[in-house]
Amino acid sequence: MRSIRVNPNLMTIFEMLGASSIRKCFDCGACTVTCPFSEEYGGEPFPRRIIKYVKLGVEDKLVASLEPWLCYHCGDCSDSCPKGADPSEILAAARRYLIIKYDFTGRVSRFLHLTNYGWLIGILILATITLLIGLIFRGPIISDRTMLETFAPVIVVDTAGLIVFAVLAIFVLLNVYRMYKFTVGSLKGIPLSIAVKELVEIPKHFLTQVKLSRCSFRSFYFIHLMIFYGYALSFILFVPLLRFTLTNEPFLFKHPLSILGIISTILFLIGLFYIIRGRLEKKHHVWKYSHTSDWVYIWLLALVVVSGILTGIFRTLDYPLPTYIMFALHIILAACFLVLMVPFSKWSHLAYRPFAIYFARLKMIKGSGVHV
Ligand code: SF4
Ligand code: SF4
Repeated sequence: MRSIRVNPNLMTIFEMLGASSIRKCFDCGACTVTCPFSEEYGGEPFPRRIIKYVKLGVEDKLVASLEPWLCYHCGDCSDSCPKGADPSEILAAARRYLIIKYDFTGRVSRFLHLTNYGWLIGILILATITLLIGLIFRGPIISDRTMLETFAPVIVVDTAGLIVFAVLAIFVLLNVYRMYKFTVGSLKGIPLSIAVKELVEIPKHFLTQVKLSRCSFRSFYFIHLMIFYGYALSFILFVPLLRFTLTNEPFLFKHPLSILGIISTILFLIGLFYIIRGRLEKKHHVWKYSHTSDWVYIWLLALVVVSGILTGIFRTLDYPLPTYIMFALHIILAACFLVLMVPFSKWSHLAYRPFAIYFARLKMIKGSGVHV
């Protein structure tokens, strides 16, 4: 018989990760009745089972579960909890915990999430590295007119961007593979043709986030989508189209591609406005509790967007030095955001969740339910 490992400190770790009210749960099941996914996954006790695992300290069961990723943090269960245990926040803490467990380095996520000032130290280290690389590879400073591409040669920015995106993609995929091993284990018992056919779930849920639309707080779905498509447009402008956007010519309102930049900025600004207002007002359960990593994520993204807007304005007004300084700041902030947030923060749910939905289908085909 396989022995079960118990971690007596698991509840304390969860409290550090944001589940500050978990000890109030008395296992009544009201959250399970409320959650729209309990029925969909064949009567699985969302999110109560995860809470039970944490209270019992059974780490292996927790790591083998996909349930935290199937949750969309809509807050419906927290509204129904008679004890104020805030189950949706416990699930958010479970996602942070799983991000730590999937991290193949075994250290970086743990350091960022569980060390005092971990995020601040991470940002300072990355900002310093990016600044040094920028100082080494920058071009000449032309100060009588704005020559942005001369200051930041497209070959340098393009190459650096491609390296960062390639490393991040490999990093995230390695972690997704670990998630697969922890949860599905193997394809034994699943016909390959079905496993391949089900792959369509990944792009479908990545691009539409459609399950979130089933939660009662409908605006949250649209806000989430706005931020997602803000990322998608920024990615298109900064990776495949960089050589058209980073030039010595005026860009804003002059180049047809600037319309994509304006749309992406508007999507980010609207999304950020609602998220920041929601988290400050704390009226809806989705935003009632903010973990440190939530605020780091939001403010870092806001700074990336604002520095991008200011770069565009200075460039359009032909203010050379403010344009160069703001663009350098924008690149430093963007590097910090990408390298720290994509694999280690809540951003990673955009990657993990569609895979979790696919893996959950594989497990159901195997006949083991979404759980182990
Ligand atoms: S989290 Fe709240 S609603 Fe869910 S089982 Fe515990 S006490 Fe009941
Ligand atoms: S936050 Fe929403 S999706 Fe997540 S467990 Fe609660 S009710 Fe279900």
